[in-house]
Amino acid sequence: DSTLLSVRDLTKTFPGRRRLGRPASRVRAVDGVAFDLAAGETLGLVGESGCGKSTTGRMLVRLLEPTAGTVAFDNQDITHLSQRQLRPTRRHLQMIFQDPYASLNPRQTVSRILSEPLLIQGKSARAARHRAAELLELVGLNPEHLDRHPYQFSGGQAQRIGIARALATGPRLIVADEPVSALDVSVQAQIVNLLERLQHELGLALLFIAHDLSVVKRICDRVAVMYLGRIVEIGDKHAVYDAPAHPYTQALLSAVPLPDPAAERRRERIVLLGDPPSPAAPPSGCSFHPRCPKAQDICRNQRPALAAVGREGRQAACHFPTDH
Ligand code: SF4
Ligand code: MG
Repeated sequence: DSTLLSVRDLTKTFPGRRRLGRPASRVRAVDGVAFDLAAGETLGLVGESGCGKSTTGRMLVRLLEPTAGTVAFDNQDITHLSQRQLRPTRRHLQMIFQDPYASLNPRQTVSRILSEPLLIQGKSARAARHRAAELLELVGLNPEHLDRHPYQFSGGQAQRIGIARALATGPRLIVADEPVSALDVSVQAQIVNLLERLQHELGLALLFIAHDLSVVKRICDRVAVMYLGRIVEIGDKHAVYDAPAHPYTQALLSAVPLPDPAAERRRERIVLLGDPPSPAAPPSGCSFHPRCPKAQDICRNQRPALAAVGREGRQAACHFPTDH
C-alpha cells in the first residue's frame, strides 16, 4: 500500500458573526473532505477563493486544528498528536505559502532561514550552512547569496527560497498553497516547472492548491475540485479535464482558454450565475444549485454524495453527473 496521506471527514468550523437577535451560528469552512494521496503523487486542489482549500491544506500539515475528522500520515493518525509527539513527523510535512515575502522573515538572512529547521533537528551550524548552500543551488539560486535578505530577491526568487526552506528537512509531503498566484505571469511557469522537477527528483507527494484549473493541469496526476467547503469532483487528471462530470468543473474548464484559436471560437463558455455563496449561509441541498445550469427540484432538497462516475476511480457529487 503506497498511501502516504489519508484524509477522512475533515471539517473546520469557525464562529460566525452574531446577527441582531439571533445567536451566532458556526461557519463550516471545510465540510467532510476525504481523499488519499499516494507517495510521490501530485494532487491539484482547485476552487474559487473562500472554498476552503487553504484551510484544508493547513489542517493537513497541522498548522490548523480540525474541528472533526482525521488526518493519517504514513498510517499514523496525526490529528491529535501534541507538538512534541508530532516532532518526528513534522520534518516530513512542509508547506509553501502564497506570498513568499510575507512568509520569510525579512530580518533573517537566507542562511538563517534555511538553517533554522536543520538546527532544530540537531545539525551543527556549519553543517546547516553547508546544506543551506546546497538547497539554494537545488532551487536554481546562487549559493553565494546566502547572506542576503529576502527583500534583495525578486518575487520569483523569494518563492524559490520558500521552496528551499520547505525542502530543508527532507519532507515526504509538501502542501503548496497557491505558490504562484502572487507572482508575475512571466515567472509562474518557471516556479511550476521547478516544483515539478523537484517533486520527480525527490519523490515528494505534493498537494498543489490553485484557484484555476489551468495552473495545475501539467503538474498534477489527479485533481480535486472544491466548492463551498466540499470536494465536488475528484479523479485522474485525464478523466476530469477531458470529460468533467460535475457542472461546476465543466464551468471552470470552460473558462480556461484553449491554445488553438479555432477551437477557442467554437467552444461554448458556461457562465455561472452570481457569486459563490457565503459559507455562513450555504444553500440547501446541493450548495451549487443557485448557480447550476442543470439544477432540478431534487437539487434544492437533497445533498448529493460523492459517488463513482465512469471508470478510473473518478467521483462526483451531483444528482445528474455527465457520464461521457
Ligand atoms: Fe447541479 Fe443538481 Fe448536480 Fe448540484 S446536484 S451540480 S444543482 S445538477
Ligand atoms: Mg487561499
